[in-house]
Amino acid sequence: MKKRRRNKQKSQRTGLWFMLWFSVLCFGFVYWNCAVEHPVIAEEMDMEEDSELLVSSLPLELQTAIPKKLDMEFISELLVSSLPLELPVLLPEELPEEKLLVVIDPGHQEKADWGKEPVGPGADAKKTKVSAGTKGVSTGIPEYELALAVSLYLKEELLARGYEVIMTRETNDVNISNLERALMANEVQADVFIRLHADNAANSKTNGVMTICQTPDSPYNSEWYEENRRLSELVLEEVTGETGANKRRIWETNTMTGINWAEVPTTLLEMGFMSNPEEDERMATEEYRKKIAKGVADAIDRYFGED
Ligand SMILES: [Zn+2]
Repeated sequence: MKKRRRNKQKSQRTGLWFMLWFSVLCFGFVYWNCAVEHPVIAEEMDMEEDSELLVSSLPLELQTAIPKKLDMEFISELLVSSLPLELPVLLPEELPEEKLLVVIDPGHQEKADWGKEPVGPGADAKKTKVSAGTKGVSTGIPEYELALAVSLYLKEELLARGYEVIMTRETNDVNISNLERALMANEVQADVFIRLHADNAANSKTNGVMTICQTPDSPYNSEWYEENRRLSELVLEEVTGETGANKRRIWETNTMTGINWAEVPTTLLEMGFMSNPEEDERMATEEYRKKIAKGVADAIDRYFGED
């Protein structure tokens, strides 16, 4: 009996130990699951508390803007945006603005290029690449020199007015055909393409200013007619207004290679007659050249202003 009781007591003790260890194991298991194996859960719980604190520190109007389901990324964005900005901030007036681009083409060059090129896209007719141009009957100044001199004044004037300027040439010893000059203007997508020339007539009394554009039914680029006609009118008006020269006309013709190939607003200005001694002398002066340049710049201002 004693032995059996002892055995019974022994098995009860073993049961107690088993229960104790089982409890320890269970506790360990639960702890491991909640805090160790899933640290993200714990972290999320903390974050939720943190974010509640963060939200309550925001201005009221921002608090209401926060979605009900808390979004830490959203909140941190709000917090960053409410911080005082230390970084340099560009004000609208300081932002780099798009400048209008004027391409100036001083007519001709020191040596003519008698090679031929098509007068327009798809044209069978060919024309001299760059003709010699005319020459001052009284001063002996070549047209290419006069054209470059006025072009350089025009460039200066336009830069001062905030335009971007590209010249097809800045020296006389180049060889660029009329077609190539138009392609240069197309390539840079000029906002305006101005071609500068001087005129010549058999009658030495003929004088005055003329501008040139294509006809409304040009087979090459009639879609530019209206813009070019308007630009030509403005240039004619402003240049004669500034210089007091005789206002001749706008010549609509499809014989100008440099106009026919252009896919940007274009006009050609004949500044005056080098075959007229008085006009030739006038165009040789710095003062008169600057007046022409100012007239063209005023016309360009108006061209964009009246858009
Ligand atoms: Zn010319």
